[in-house]
Amino acid sequence: MSNTLQKQGRRTFLKQATLLPAAAGLVGAVGAQAAQPNRRPASLQTDVLVVGGGPAGIGAAIGAAKAGAKTLVLEDEAFFGGVAAWGVGMCMNQMRPFSEPRGFVHELLLEKLQAYGDQAVRLETHQFFVNVEYLKAAVLDALDEVGCTYLVHAKAVEAITEGDQVKGVVISTKSGLQEIRANVVVDCTGDADIAYFSGAPTLTATGKLSPQTLGLNVGNVEGYGRKDLMPVFTEAREQYPLIPDRWWMHQVSNCNFSYINHSGTKTLGNFDVTDIEQFSKAECLSRKQAVQMVEAMRHFGKGVVKNCELVGTSPRIGVRESRRIEGAYILSEEDALAGRRFDDAIAWRSGWLDIGFTRVTQMKVHQVPYRALLPKQVEGLLVAGRCISATHAGASAGKSMGNCFATGHAAGVAGAMSSKTKVSPRALDVKEIQKRLRQDGVNLDRGGEMQSREMSN
Ligand SMILES: Cc1cc2nc3c(=O)[nH]c(=O)nc-3n(C[C@H](O)[C@H](O)[C@H](O)COP(=O)(O)OP(=O)(O)OC[C@H]3O[C@@H](n4cnc5c(N)ncnc54)[C@H](O)[C@@H]3O)c2cc1C
Repeated sequence: MSNTLQKQGRRTFLKQATLLPAAAGLVGAVGAQAAQPNRRPASLQTDVLVVGGGPAGIGAAIGAAKAGAKTLVLEDEAFFGGVAAWGVGMCMNQMRPFSEPRGFVHELLLEKLQAYGDQAVRLETHQFFVNVEYLKAAVLDALDEVGCTYLVHAKAVEAITEGDQVKGVVISTKSGLQEIRANVVVDCTGDADIAYFSGAPTLTATGKLSPQTLGLNVGNVEGYGRKDLMPVFTEAREQYPLIPDRWWMHQVSNCNFSYINHSGTKTLGNFDVTDIEQFSKAECLSRKQAVQMVEAMRHFGKGVVKNCELVGTSPRIGVRESRRIEGAYILSEEDALAGRRFDDAIAWRSGWLDIGFTRVTQMKVHQVPYRALLPKQVEGLLVAGRCISATHAGASAGKSMGNCFATGHAAGVAGAMSSKTKVSPRALDVKEIQKRLRQDGVNLDRGGEMQSREMSN
């Protein structure tokens, strides 16, 4: 099915929901909000505020702090890592494509992981195979090293705006709502939450979105071979109707248990996680699905698979695709296949164009223009990671974690420069951002080359 882009902004949504008169104050009416009894005024003020602590947010936080900005990163979960940490052991792809360092951010994380020894990380071609519990600690070590402050259990639920300027966010805490103000905000929520809350136009594909997947760990499958799973696909579906049409198992870095990645909700429906009812349904179906998968393996699997034991699941479903910003440039599949280069390149993306268990296409290394990190209509806001400005397939071309760290790094550096110079991110001299990224070890000359299959897989 072809995917077109549906444009939506918070303001349009409110209008459509006929809530506009009552809810209009939610968009940027700081004074009205401050009067609410359960709302505490800004006690935290920072230069750069990064919202979301997945690969993009970690990249942005490290990039901004290393560039000298007072930086605070917020995370809704109890730990940092985003899908890299929810994935319960998946490989972090494109962290070292071409088997060489990709830049300061990627290398700092590797250094912190390696400090914990073999249990923490195994480096292969371009990938880091990590034990997620070590990853969670290593991210904190990296943030500490660059002097970045952080808060977990801090979900941003609103943007603070003054005119078209984003001035901070409101977080939900046990003491009620709390304001945090910043010179620049970097939205790394994966779902462009802050851009949407601030009224910037956003994009969502109209066709089928990439599926969500609840990762799981299983044990007692030592010596498993891929063929052991074949009977499960073909024979178990009638008894276990929720099982996905595709899955594979991989041993977690130097551990005696395995990680399963699979096609998740692909055969269960089309779920947009920005709609709470759809999000909830996808999550709940996925929990039952995980148990059905293990039961199906135990009853229909061959070899060691029939002894498998469920060790645990991700804390929540992993989201491959949802809402993205609309920037002055929208990255597309054509850009990825052509290996396009841009004068305002601040990062590049490598690996497969991978529409989660739906289509995999070999692409070229292609550059990311700075314009794809800047939402239209609002100032003081940058975006990084999977919610940058891109089409459905364009987004799928950049979703490997190494690429998300890279756009995060660039957004963090730009945020720090904007805060220091008081020049809006949109008006910054891109050559200065590029210069700073090069100083951080980023090779911005890449773009246009085809990777070997071994390096892109
Ligand atoms: C099931 C699945 C399997 C994948 N497999 C691989 C793989 O094997 N290798 C690979 O390299 N890539 C893989 N990917 C892709 C990769 O994981 C993602 O593209 C990448 O994690 C995106 O990074 P991000 O930082 O943009 O978003 P995310 O990883 O989604 O992180 C966003 C973070 O922001 C936080 N957040 C969200 N909203 C708020 C808010 N309002 N306030 C505060 N915090 C908030 C979230 O809790 C989360 O920690 C996979 C993705 C999925 C879903």
